[in-house]
Amino acid sequence: MEMNLDKNKVWKLVKQETNPATSYEIGVINTILGIKKRADEWRFQKGIHCYRCSRELTIFDFFLSSIQHHSIKEIKDLVVNNLKDPGQREQDDDPNLIDYVELADNTSPITCSNCGTTMNLMHKLYMHPGYKGRVIRMPGNIYRKFAEKIQYMNSI
Ligand SMILES: [Zn+2]
Repeated sequence: MEMNLDKNKVWKLVKQETNPATSYEIGVINTILGIKKRADEWRFQKGIHCYRCSRELTIFDFFLSSIQHHSIKEIKDLVVNNLKDPGQREQDDDPNLIDYVELADNTSPITCSNCGTTMNLMHKLYMHPGYKGRVIRMPGNIYRKFAEKIQYMNSI
């Protein structure tokens, strides 16, 4: 389900609420997928910790969990822009990184890459590059929080 919040404002909130991939993580993700995307296009909600070892989970844990359930080809089809050369966005300086905001309220399994514990968590706020544009997915509770904050930003 695609949502219609002001994407520039959503991007400001997403930067506050998520961590980007580290340079190591994006290097591994790009190598596995055979693509060339920027670290700030892969982001995961801050403050989500492993139940067992307490380490903060990252987009890398989410990515590695995804490739246990989907083929590399499926993931690559999802994240590579079919219309342009995969490397083209490297030169894209547009600060408005979000092209699609999607609502997702399912649970998904995520495995901690430190201790190997798999947690079935309610959907988290995350971002990945997508073939139709850069995608932000978030659960309904975060969407409502964003909508309230954007309403406040509009009022001041
Ligand atoms: Zn852990």
